[in-house]
Amino acid sequence: MFRKELELFTFGDLLEFFPYRHIDKTNIKKIAEIRGEQDYFQFAGKIKSVDIIGDKRSRRLVAYLHDGTGEIELVWFQGISWAEKFIQVGSSYLVFGKVGFYMGSPQLSHPEIELWNPSALPPKKVLDPIYPSTEKLKVRGLNGRAIGKITRELVALVTPAVLPENIPAKIVQQLKLVSRYEAYSHIHFPQNPGQYQQAVRRLKFEELFLAQVRLQLTVVHRNEVNKGIIFDKVGEVFTDFYEHYLPFELTGAQKKVIKEIRLDMAKGKQMNRLLQGDVGSGKTIVALMSMLIAIGNGYQACLMAPTEILAHQHYEKILQLLLPVKVHVALLTGSSKAAHRKKLLDKLQQGEIDILIGTHALIEPNVVFKNLGLSIIDEQHRFGVAQRSRLWQKNSILPHILVMTATPIPRTLAMTAYGDLDTSIIDELPPGRKPIHTVHRYDDYRVKVMEFIKEEIATGRQAYIIFPLIEESKKLDFENLMQGYENIKAWFPEPKFWVSMVHGKMKAEQKEHNMRRFVNGETNIMVATTVIEVGVDVPNASVMVIESAEKFGLSQLHQLRGRVGRGSEKSYCVLLTGTKLSKEGKERMKIMTSTNDGFKIAEKDLELRGPGEIEGTRQSGALNFKIADIVQDKAILEVARNIAKELVENDSKLILAENLCLKNYLASIQQKTGWAKIS
Ligand code: ADP
Ligand code: MG
Repeated sequence: MFRKELELFTFGDLLEFFPYRHIDKTNIKKIAEIRGEQDYFQFAGKIKSVDIIGDKRSRRLVAYLHDGTGEIELVWFQGISWAEKFIQVGSSYLVFGKVGFYMGSPQLSHPEIELWNPSALPPKKVLDPIYPSTEKLKVRGLNGRAIGKITRELVALVTPAVLPENIPAKIVQQLKLVSRYEAYSHIHFPQNPGQYQQAVRRLKFEELFLAQVRLQLTVVHRNEVNKGIIFDKVGEVFTDFYEHYLPFELTGAQKKVIKEIRLDMAKGKQMNRLLQGDVGSGKTIVALMSMLIAIGNGYQACLMAPTEILAHQHYEKILQLLLPVKVHVALLTGSSKAAHRKKLLDKLQQGEIDILIGTHALIEPNVVFKNLGLSIIDEQHRFGVAQRSRLWQKNSILPHILVMTATPIPRTLAMTAYGDLDTSIIDELPPGRKPIHTVHRYDDYRVKVMEFIKEEIATGRQAYIIFPLIEESKKLDFENLMQGYENIKAWFPEPKFWVSMVHGKMKAEQKEHNMRRFVNGETNIMVATTVIEVGVDVPNASVMVIESAEKFGLSQLHQLRGRVGRGSEKSYCVLLTGTKLSKEGKERMKIMTSTNDGFKIAEKDLELRGPGEIEGTRQSGALNFKIADIVQDKAILEVARNIAKELVENDSKLILAENLCLKNYLASIQQKTGWAKIS
């Protein structure tokens, strides 16, 4: 029963099945004092009547409880025969539940109920735990309170020996934490609210600390097994390119991260670095310069992008930039022709290709490098963990890894989900960028929006119009897109205007062709789905219209918006929505129109959706915390991370006596869960 309903399998699970609140048994609310609030209260009184009314699905047991100040209705839709036996007219009961209102009168549906002796001495002040329960369990009398009874027996059996300390004593003292044993007993049965708070604080710290220790140990382990390739110079190509052919002055932030990457690759350990930079911050040039370092040291490099369009664009841009220097660049995608592919793969293995750019096609087993020294992944959240690691394994000595993301990762998320990576952040945009002016408009404003696009086109600019084909296979969305395309063509008739379209269902060549026309300025408007979201760079585009903007998440909207504002012209983003917006939808529009800062938006996204929903982290498992919450417990997380780092730096093998308890604990859970390495 427990197993099926609550996924509790062992006593340990039950011990970790924490109450969601406590109630004070001495605190009995008077019925007359209910003020319309929908909250949990406890009442005590005499049952005046019990009736079974209604039939079939509406059959229910209704009882009225009086406490001298008023009456409250108690109702059971299930477990009626049990309730009928248990509840006797004239007897006194203690009931607990969430007050609801039925036809204006207070009501408790399926309350917790127990016999009450009004003349007994008032109970000692105790905080009783209330556990989440399910309807099915409640029907069998196993409500939250009953779970509490079982847990009480369990906790009584638990001794410090069963729950030995797992945090080194020094840390426990330093942070004034209660012991593990105390924490478990007090989180269930505190004597006062302070005790409960202390228990929660301890358990949150413990959870975050242990996760951080594991992450740090993973890093140490990784550095031990692979020494990494040492790039001890920047090399001639780098210097030549840097001194003569850079198309622009690098921003301070770009210089800073290139230096971080350069130093990291010279250290004698494998680089595992996350490069974060808002859309348009100029990550591509950083990737390119890093690859030149690899080449200057006699190695090959590769760059993997999530879509063909993006891989093409990287290829063309990098090819062009490297024209004056002697570097061989090649492109490999799913649509590369067989004969071409074969030749390319031969050259790659011979070492005649220095930089290979491509899509998932790069991780195919037949793609063999002569000596791969650096793998870069663009827009890393688009790839699964497994896909990424297959790219790592392309060399006998693991290549250096740089993963790039334009979806800024809030610090707390970076510390947990990506805690085993070093991070570099480009926190500065190239000079001359004007902030994108973003507005939210309802659908009925569309005519004006179209007029505005016409004005912009008249000045030589281009525009994107995005449709929410979130799942490319959804028929309805697809029809909307086609309808939208026809409408837009009607608004912008040929030959005065040209409209191109890309979507996920198109053949790669078609997509490519349409995209290219827009990139080359042959079309004025690009109608697209989110395939356009990542990376594409058309500096001349100055308007981004997002249809049904309420259907997109914040980070996605920010990514889409980042397609404009890449040149020096003023750019606009118009978020079109239906008039019926949810509260959260409104909130999202408000955030989008009030800031251009990707980090702020990512923080908000994390707050609104919770860590489980942030792209790319879902499968990571690194966020399955039982009690800690990386949004609310930021401060604890920071402390836990610093302390864990220091501990592992000082004693990476956990051989010091003071860390023995931690070592034993990690060994015991490793045995139990088969947990080995996180990454
Ligand atoms: P993202 O970080 O989104 O991948 P890109 O690398 O595509 O950004 O760069 C966006 C645009 O900014 C490109 O057109 C690029 O050429 C330009 N750019 C990058 N760095 C600079 C710089 N330091 N000065 C001027 N323009 C730059
Ligand atoms: Mg990019």
